[in-house]
Amino acid sequence: MNAYFRKEIQAFEYVSFTELKIEKESEFCCEKLEKYVSSVKSWNGKIGKFCIVEKEMYVPIDYCPFCGKKIQYVLVE
Ligand SMILES: [Zn+2]
Repeated sequence: MNAYFRKEIQAFEYVSFTELKIEKESEFCCEKLEKYVSSVKSWNGKIGKFCIVEKEMYVPIDYCPFCGKKIQYVLVE
């Protein structure tokens, strides 16, 4: 599956930082992941990947934990 995200730069007076935002039109490989992502805040805006919570730590995932499909993270310009 492809997860589309884009860069958004938040600029303040003294600092600016980049936030990576997931695009709504990302198509999910399976319903379970889609439900998981919408119920749990699993998108990590700093690294631009979905995460699962494992031993109270956020672990970025490259494969769907439900069906095993590879997740491609695609930056949309
Ligand atoms: Zn899946």
